[in-house]
Amino acid sequence: MTTITRSTCCYCGVGCGVLIESEGEQIVGVSGDPAHPANWGRLCTKGLSLAKSVQSPIGRAMYPELRTSRSEARQRVDWDSALDAVADRFAGIIEEHGPDSVAFYVSGQLLTEDYYVFNKLAKGLIGTNNIDTNSRLCMSSAVTAYKMALGADGPPTCYEDLELAQTLLFAGSNMAYAHPVLFRRLEAAKAANPDIKWIVIDPRRTDTAAMADLHLQIQPGTDVALFHGMLHHILWEGLADTAFIEVHTSGFAELKARVRQYTPKMVAELCGVLEADLLQAAEWFGRSPAALSLYCMGLNQSSHGTDKNLALINLHLATGQIGKPGSGPFSLTGQHNAMGGREVGGMATMLAAHRDIANPQHRAEVAQFWGVDAVSGKPGLPAVAMFDAIKAGQIKAVWIVCTNPAHSLPDLPNVRQALEMAEFVVVQDAFAHTDTTAFADVLLPASSWGEKEGTVTNSERRISRVRAAVQPLGEAKSDSWIALQVAQRMGARLKPEHPGLFFFDSPEAIFNEHRALTVGRDLDIGGLSYALLEASPQQWPYPQGASTGQARRYSNGVFATDSGRAKFTAVDYLPVAEPTNSRFPFHLLTGRLRDQWHGMSRTGRLPQLFAHSPEPSLEMNPVDAERRNLKVGDLLRISSKRGSLILPLALSADLVSGCVFTAMHWSGQFLNSSGSNEIASSATDDKSFQPELKHAAVRIEKV
Ligand code: SF4
Repeated sequence: MTTITRSTCCYCGVGCGVLIESEGEQIVGVSGDPAHPANWGRLCTKGLSLAKSVQSPIGRAMYPELRTSRSEARQRVDWDSALDAVADRFAGIIEEHGPDSVAFYVSGQLLTEDYYVFNKLAKGLIGTNNIDTNSRLCMSSAVTAYKMALGADGPPTCYEDLELAQTLLFAGSNMAYAHPVLFRRLEAAKAANPDIKWIVIDPRRTDTAAMADLHLQIQPGTDVALFHGMLHHILWEGLADTAFIEVHTSGFAELKARVRQYTPKMVAELCGVLEADLLQAAEWFGRSPAALSLYCMGLNQSSHGTDKNLALINLHLATGQIGKPGSGPFSLTGQHNAMGGREVGGMATMLAAHRDIANPQHRAEVAQFWGVDAVSGKPGLPAVAMFDAIKAGQIKAVWIVCTNPAHSLPDLPNVRQALEMAEFVVVQDAFAHTDTTAFADVLLPASSWGEKEGTVTNSERRISRVRAAVQPLGEAKSDSWIALQVAQRMGARLKPEHPGLFFFDSPEAIFNEHRALTVGRDLDIGGLSYALLEASPQQWPYPQGASTGQARRYSNGVFATDSGRAKFTAVDYLPVAEPTNSRFPFHLLTGRLRDQWHGMSRTGRLPQLFAHSPEPSLEMNPVDAERRNLKVGDLLRISSKRGSLILPLALSADLVSGCVFTAMHWSGQFLNSSGSNEIASSATDDKSFQPELKHAAVRIEKV
């Protein structure tokens, strides 16, 4: 008999609803949920292939493993032995070196409930804020800019705006590959109304750019200058919404003075685009009845990603293009639950329900709610700094959950050294053979998608249920169960006076505690419950008494800042952290493939998902290749200051001369190196701490 289970796709931030078909303990099909408002039944190739990729035992972590010395291989052990070992070793290190001698590195692939338990374990039980996440590599610049400009994290927009926008500005987003189901909605809207204008800002002519009315193929990292150049034209041509600026914003005079110097002529030259094209973009944006910007890693993964986000939000505030149907800045979340992680405060700089570690009142509220003496006011270490601290011996034990930092962090030689230096490494993952599991002293097998229960929040702030259709493979357990087991063991030793801290008997009980912490906050979900979410996914805020979530924020012109006014920020253009020079003359750009996901631990199992892009390559403009006498298929060594990797050459006229491109998915499982991040720069944004994964200066030689 076939059973249908409603759930949510585990890949990108679109958050498509799916129907899982199972027969006994076998998932036999996955189709789009026609009732889910994120996708109305559509799925992309990754979602459609879930049934085939999800249950294969090949490569899955099936049982706990432990080694007692680095010279030994890990051995299979029972759960109690593994959990006791983790709890004992963590507690011992904390007792000897203090709470900040341990760290957690978690993931936007976790469910909100998993995230909540790990966050409480670190900040409530242990008393360290050293918990960060791969969302630091993904959305932290967007988060920082939202908070600075609008007063709170989270996009003000919703998916309905995709069809209502008259001008779409894509910035650093190849949405055709990274958010394909939403892209189909945009294509349909444009087919129905050809007057809708698409402007794409990207150094590459991606599939998204190929469909644009106007492609601004800028030099890497020049986005702030471009946005200021557009704003200059908007202001000096009288296209700004002066009434909106007057009533609803602050900081305009300083911004106006700043953008005065960003003349379209100067900016066009700096960005490498035609001045006429820049002016056209400004005209379309400034005169549009509804302008929506869609942006992603091209803005965020930058050493000045927050400034790029702020400069884009400035454009919306100056034209009043926010809080109205079809308009607003819309950051597209990379992972399926990067938003949920932010909601529970699962980062080194945040506390539960969008509270801040730096705010004493927020710390007191959370401590009181949890019933602990205090929450530490010492900021935790964000991802890149965390691994530097491990390498320096400052952090002695790290617990890595549902992510593969030995593939996804920049400057991988440094990351590998850190993991070798750590006294104790715990890796909790559904997959046994990632680049990171090689460093694990303890491997904790986690259940995978289709085997676990909880919730996720997608790019439009919509919370959906993720549901189990089958039992976990082997001895795998859910991430929250594993965290709770260790927390209870550590709690008995470190905080015996608080025996009830981790008394959760189900994911629903965890959700309910998280919900209680949101009451009165900007993301208040006091009116939500598992029962309600079973019936239909809902957007936050959804306070008690509400009958629906809020589709669009700030529609009344009141922002989440103390003054209620949105803030312009007069940022300045700064170049990429690592400019090219005679030794490293190429700009290396990175990005996604259409049919692969992250380190390919799931999508890399399916031959059909390699049809679109069968092997890794380095793409180069044909003119650059000819100048160097290089031919398609030549093996090239690509070197940065940090290391090198070898890839075959592919030619692409989609890149301007001086830029090369490789996809970020390929890792040690598929290459004889750990992929593009072997050579990526670990320079970070000084406000968001997000690394510049999108750009490095490299040298290219024929092998
Ligand atoms: Fe999954 Fe994203 Fe594809 Fe939807 S668009 S099916 S959420 S990968």
